[in-house]
Amino acid sequence: MDVFLTDEQRRLRAEVRAWLDEAYPPQRVAALEHDREYPEEFWAACATRGWCGIPVPVEHGGRAGTVTDLCVFVEEVAKTTISLATLYITATIFGSHALEICGSPAQRERLLPAVAAGAVRFGLAMSEPGAGSDFAAMTTTATRVDGGWRIDGRKGPCSGAERAEVLITAARTATDPGSSHRGISLFLVEPPVDGLRFERRDFAAMRGLPVDDVVYDSVIVGDDAMLGAEGEGWRNLGRLMGPERLANAAQAVGVAQAAVDDAVGYARQRRQYGKPIGGFQAVAHPLATAHAEIAAARLLVYGAARKCDADGPSPLEVSMAKMMANNVAVRATDAALQTAGARGYEEESPFMRRFLEARGCELGGGTSQIQRNIISRHLGLQ
Ligand SMILES: Cc1cc2nc3c(=O)[nH]c(=O)nc-3n(C[C@H](O)[C@H](O)[C@H](O)COP(=O)(O)OP(=O)(O)OC[C@H]3O[C@@H](n4cnc5c(N)ncnc54)[C@H](O)[C@@H]3O)c2cc1C
Repeated sequence: MDVFLTDEQRRLRAEVRAWLDEAYPPQRVAALEHDREYPEEFWAACATRGWCGIPVPVEHGGRAGTVTDLCVFVEEVAKTTISLATLYITATIFGSHALEICGSPAQRERLLPAVAAGAVRFGLAMSEPGAGSDFAAMTTTATRVDGGWRIDGRKGPCSGAERAEVLITAARTATDPGSSHRGISLFLVEPPVDGLRFERRDFAAMRGLPVDDVVYDSVIVGDDAMLGAEGEGWRNLGRLMGPERLANAAQAVGVAQAAVDDAVGYARQRRQYGKPIGGFQAVAHPLATAHAEIAAARLLVYGAARKCDADGPSPLEVSMAKMMANNVAVRATDAALQTAGARGYEEESPFMRRFLEARGCELGGGTSQIQRNIISRHLGLQ
C-alpha cells in the first residue's frame, strides 16, 4: 500500500527501520517507557544521519524534504514508540515549519542550520490548563517592557518542553475586550531564562518524552524574540497545524500497523482449544478489518501529504486524514489488545502501550471532534 512512495522514500523507510530494529528492540523500548528514559540515542542518530535536516531547506543545511517524506519517516518511527516520533515532530518538524512560515531572515539564518544539525530542539507552548481546543482563550500575557516583552502565565501540556532549546510560546499581546484571536503573538523563548520553570506532567503513555507545564513568571525576552508579526500568532499557528496534524496522522497509522502486525504474530502462535487462536474467525476478522482500515487511512494520509506538497496548506484533507487515522488507530489497537488477552492488559505490554499511544494521538493536535468541526465548516455546516 505504498503506491504513493518514490524509491528514495522507500529507501528512507528501510534505513530508519533497520536502525530502529538494531537500536530499539522491544525490550529496550519497554525499558525506555518504564524508566522514562529520554531517547538520547535516537536524537543523536537523527542528528548524525541527517534525519533532522529532512524538513529544512538545502540553503540552511537541510534536505528540503517534502511533507510526504516527513510522513514516511514519522510513520516508521512511530511503529517503535511515539516517544521517539513525537520528539521528532515537535523538535524538528514544528520548529523548522514555524521558522519557514513566519521566522524573520535573522531567525531563520541563526536557527535553521541548528535544527538541521540536531543542535536545537523546539517545543510548542500553545495549550494552557484553561485553553485546550479553544486555544484563543489563552490568558498568558506578553507585556511591552523597555527593549522587549515580559511573559507571564502557565502553558501546558507541552511535549519535550524541558529538553527544548527553543519554546515557541503563544501569549496575549492585546488584552482589550474583543481582541481574542487578533491579540495573540508568538515568541521564541530560549531556556535557561530567569522566571521560567517546568512542572512535569504524568502521561499514561509516551513516557520516554517528558511532558511539562511551563510556568512563565516575569520572563523577559528581547524584541527580536517575536516570531511573526505582532497579533498574527493565531493565524500563524493555524498554518503550522497542517504539517503537525498530518505528522500526527502518520504517527497513528504507524502505531496501528505495528499493533496489528504484533497481534497477527501472536494469533498465529498462541494456541487454545488445540489450535492457534488465529484459526478462530472471531479473532481473525477484527484483525483483517483493522488491516484494511489502516490501509485506507494510510491512503488518506499520503493523499493529503501529496496535496500539501503540490498545492500548499490543505486543511480539509489534513483534518480528514487526521480524524480517520486517529479513529482507525484506536479501533485497530483495541482489536490487537483483545487478541492478546490478559497478556495485553499487563502494564508493560506493547499492546496496552499502543492502545494508549493511539488515544494520545487522537487527543493531541486538535481532537477528532475538532477535526469534525473543521470538516463540517468546509461542508458549509456549523
Ligand atoms: C500526547 C499529547 C501531547 C500534547 N503536546 C502538546 C504540546 O507539545 N504543546 C501544546 O501546546 N499542547 C500539547 N497538547 C495539548 C493538546 O493540544 C490539547 O490536549 C488539545 O488541544 C485538547 O485540549 P484539552 O486536552 O484541553 O481538551 P478540551 O479542549 O478541554 O476538550 C475536552 C473534550 O471536549 C471536546 N470539545 C471541546 N471543544 C469542543 C467543540 N467545540 N466541539 C466538539 N467537541 C469539543 C474535545 O474534543 C475533548 O473531547 C498535547 C496533548 C496530548 C494528548
